[in-house]
Amino acid sequence: MPAEPPVVTPRSLAEAYELLGGDPFRPIAGGTDLMVQITGELGEPPERVLDLWRLDELRGIRLANGDALAIGALSTYTQIRRSPLVGEHLPALAEAAATIGAAQIQNRGTLGGNVVNASPAGDTLPVLLAADADIVLGSRRGERTVPAADFWTGYRKTARAEDELVLRIVFPLRPGRRTRFRKVGTRRAQAISKVVMALAYRSDGGVWRDVRVALGSVAERPIRVPETERVLEGAAPRQSVADHAAATIAGEISPIDDVRSTADYRRAVSARILHRMLREEGGW
Ligand SMILES: Cc1cc2nc3c(=O)[nH]c(=O)nc-3n(C[C@H](O)[C@H](O)[C@H](O)COP(=O)(O)OP(=O)(O)OC[C@H]3O[C@@H](n4cnc5c(N)ncnc54)[C@H](O)[C@@H]3O)c2cc1C
Repeated sequence: MPAEPPVVTPRSLAEAYELLGGDPFRPIAGGTDLMVQITGELGEPPERVLDLWRLDELRGIRLANGDALAIGALSTYTQIRRSPLVGEHLPALAEAAATIGAAQIQNRGTLGGNVVNASPAGDTLPVLLAADADIVLGSRRGERTVPAADFWTGYRKTARAEDELVLRIVFPLRPGRRTRFRKVGTRRAQAISKVVMALAYRSDGGVWRDVRVALGSVAERPIRVPETERVLEGAAPRQSVADHAAATIAGEISPIDDVRSTADYRRAVSARILHRMLREEGGW
C-alpha cells in the first residue's frame, strides 16, 4: 500500500479555490468513495487531498427564491433523510438516501460526493435527472451551473473541471410535481444497484405531464429514456398505457451483463419497476 497522500484542510471557500487553482488536488468530502480508491488498486490514487469538511459554504438545505430547493454538496444522506424540506418537496431523494449503504455511510457520505464520483450505479443520480436538477460549480473563475442532463458525460466522466468544486445541487420546485424512486439490489441494505429508477410527473386534467423517467446501472452513465417518456406524456393513467411504457423501456435501454446482474434481468426489472410505479400512481 502506498504512503498516505498529504491532506490540506482549507478553512474557507476562497482558500480552497486558491489551492485547487495551483497543484492538482483531489477533493475529499465524506471519503466513502475516495478512501476505497486510496490504495491505487481501483484507478489512479490521489497525490494530494483537499479536505472539504470544514467548508460551511457547502452545507445546508434551503429554499432558494421560493421556487427551488438548494442542497449543499456536503449534505449527508442522514441530513437529507431528516430534512423536512426534502420530505415535502422531493421525497424521492429522501427515499434514495435511505437506501444508500447503511447508517455509517449515510452519516458520512454526501450528495456532492455521489454526484462527482459519477458511478453509473450512484443512487441519487436518477433523481437529479428526473427532477431537472442543476449542479452549481465554483472555482477561482466564478460560479457556473450545469444541468444534471449535461453533467455525466461518459463512464465516470463529468463536466466538472479539475479546479472546480460542486457547491450545491438545485432542484426547481414545480407545483403539483410528484417524484418516485425505486432501487433493486441483492439485499435491502449495503447493496449496489442492479437497477435504480426515478420517476417525476404532474397530473393535469386527468393526464400525465412533464414526465421524466431516469435510470441508473443500465448504461455507462445515468440516463433518461425519452421514447418511454413520450409514451407517457399527455397519456391518461391506464393499464394499457403502462403496458406500452413498460414494453418501450425494455426495448429502449441496452444494459450490460456484469458481476451484479445480466442484461436480460435488468431489462425485465426496469419494465416491471416502471409498470408498478405507474400502477401505484394511477391507482388502478
Ligand atoms: C460500504 C459502502 C456502501 C455504499 N453504498 C452505496 C449505495 O448504496 N449507493 C450509492 O450510490 N453509493 C454507495 N456508496 C458510495 C458512496 O458512499 C457514495 O457515492 C457517497 O455519496 C460518496 O460521497 P462522499 O462524500 O463520501 O464522497 P468522497 O469519497 O469524499 O468523494 C467522492 C468523489 O467526489 C469528489 N468530490 C466529493 N465532493 C466534492 C465536491 N463538493 N466538489 C468536487 N468534488 C467532490 C472526490 O474528489 C471524489 O472523486 C457506498 C460506499 C461504501 C464504502
